[in-house]
Amino acid sequence: MAHARDDHDHHDDHDHSALDETELRVRALETVLVQKGYVDPAALDALIDTYTTRIGPQNGARVVARAWVDPDYRARLLADATAAIAELGYSGRQGEHMVAVENTPARHNVVVCTLCSCYPWPVLGLPPTWYKSAPYRSRVVRDPRGVLAEFGVVLPPETEIRVWDSTAEVRYLVIPQRPAGTAALSEAQLADLVSRDAMIGTALVGTTPVRRGA
Ligand code: FE
Repeated sequence: MAHARDDHDHHDDHDHSALDETELRVRALETVLVQKGYVDPAALDALIDTYTTRIGPQNGARVVARAWVDPDYRARLLADATAAIAELGYSGRQGEHMVAVENTPARHNVVVCTLCSCYPWPVLGLPPTWYKSAPYRSRVVRDPRGVLAEFGVVLPPETEIRVWDSTAEVRYLVIPQRPAGTAALSEAQLADLVSRDAMIGTALVGTTPVRRGA
């Protein structure tokens, strides 16, 4: 299963040193589990492939784009996000009780899990490292405006910032504001504008397609 992690070997960014330590431990654990017959390496590969290619923020982006172009879908999403997201075929572990929160000029929503790293896997894939970090989890609650500024998101002072604390019971999806000047775009083109971070609330949506992947 080395192929799933090969891209990490090309990073010479020293910020990855902690992750490398973690990866070593994961590999050691995996080796022991496989040798003892507790896990099937093929099943593990399939699981990792699922979360690297099939399940990821592209799913949430389709939900957001649909909500932007279809007012009825938007209403269903805000009323019962789990059901509305399942309409597009996304459901399963860590996404059983979804709540969609919509950004407006008056209110910006940002999501955290202060306790650990609860995150809506079916629509966003696996959480980014910073989402799981202690500084993000503690600071975004105390100083959301300051943390957002560090992400490059500077909101007008009159925009209220609402922080949503995820739990094992409820996971949140932020519906970002649709950028101006996108009236001519198709639903698929709109989805290409929506980044993972925009659906966590730590980014805004611009008019440039985002790059997906590692
Ligand atoms: Fe958590």
